Amino acid sequence: MIPISKPFIGEEEKTGVLAVLESGMLAQGKKVAALEAAFAAVCETKHAVATSSGTTALHLALLAHGIGAGDEVITTPFTFIATASSILFTGAKPVFVDVDADTFNLNPALIEQAITPRTKAILPVHLYGQICDMDAIQKIAEKHGLAIIEDAAQAVGATRHGKKAGSFGTGCFSLYATKNIMSAEGGIITTDDDAIAETLRMLRNHGMKRRYYHDMLGYNFRMTDLHAAIGLAQVNRLDNFTAKRRANAEYLSAHIKSVITPTVMAGNAHVWHQYTIRVTHTDRDAAAKQLNDAGIGTGIFYPVPAHRQGFIREIVGDVRLPVTETLAAEVISLPVHPRLTPADLEKIAAEVNKL
Ligand SMILES: *Cc1c(COP(=O)(O)O)cnc(C)c1O
Repeated sequence: MIPISKPFIGEEEKTGVLAVLESGMLAQGKKVAALEAAFAAVCETKHAVATSSGTTALHLALLAHGIGAGDEVITTPFTFIATASSILFTGAKPVFVDVDADTFNLNPALIEQAITPRTKAILPVHLYGQICDMDAIQKIAEKHGLAIIEDAAQAVGATRHGKKAGSFGTGCFSLYATKNIMSAEGGIITTDDDAIAETLRMLRNHGMKRRYYHDMLGYNFRMTDLHAAIGLAQVNRLDNFTAKRRANAEYLSAHIKSVITPTVMAGNAHVWHQYTIRVTHTDRDAAAKQLNDAGIGTGIFYPVPAHRQGFIREIVGDVRLPVTETLAAEVISLPVHPRLTPADLEKIAAEVNKL
């Protein structure tokens, strides 16, 4: 079976973790600080703040922007559940806006009609590794005085008009094991804003600046130096991994003829966290099974959009978002990760063309 994802663990990851173990300094320390500096350099932001996961990164980013009970945050329903649950953790309400069928990302033309006096922020998700139409989203945010919190969990290194994911607003990344670069579990928040960065550092560590003096209600959302050692080794591999993902995606788009292949918006450099086709001429689940039976791993990201998940439906009601609901029934993600061989790529394209 060609797996849908396959983390790369090399010598630097292993020696990095061993060095931390031998140092005896295991919790948030020098390795976390080094990872933060490396990540800020990648994202071209002033600050990067490490947390325990992408989910805690989103949660803290929302809190640092003062979002809480009574507030609304506009976001996409076509995402991993953590985007919506992090809004709910703060007591705020997610307001779902439909996506664009070509890019799978938030449709900016539908945002303004969803803004109310309670709206505090827009939370776009750079799905599958492609940046949203941030030009349009930034214009709307400025006009209405809204914060932008980017869910860039799938988009490390992606650019729009040369500008990096995570640098358009407050950026949230995940270093979960299957992401483009990983630390087993981990998260990063990027910002150019000194005050937001300081609040984030306090929120992740019990509201402390000075040990045992607690200035606010905080959490323990710290990253460990063990995880940071893995993440640091991976940051150094990012350009190489991204180049391989791009070459793999280019091969698939050139050779797949049977289904709708992904669109890259003009001005975007995609990082291909997922390579996602749309199956419109036959049953999607049967198509995925046919690929699995032929030895091709697949992923359905995501079969049930956030606004149709039971616990969220109880909060937002019976919202219908037709583009998202159609896409959720059509998408199949194919292997595109850096460890694919030329033979794997040939086989993937050939089997997809049999659908
Ligand atoms: C992975 C992911 C998250 C959550 O990150 P974790 O590190 O798993 O908590 C959030 N949003 C999106 C779009 C993701 O892909």
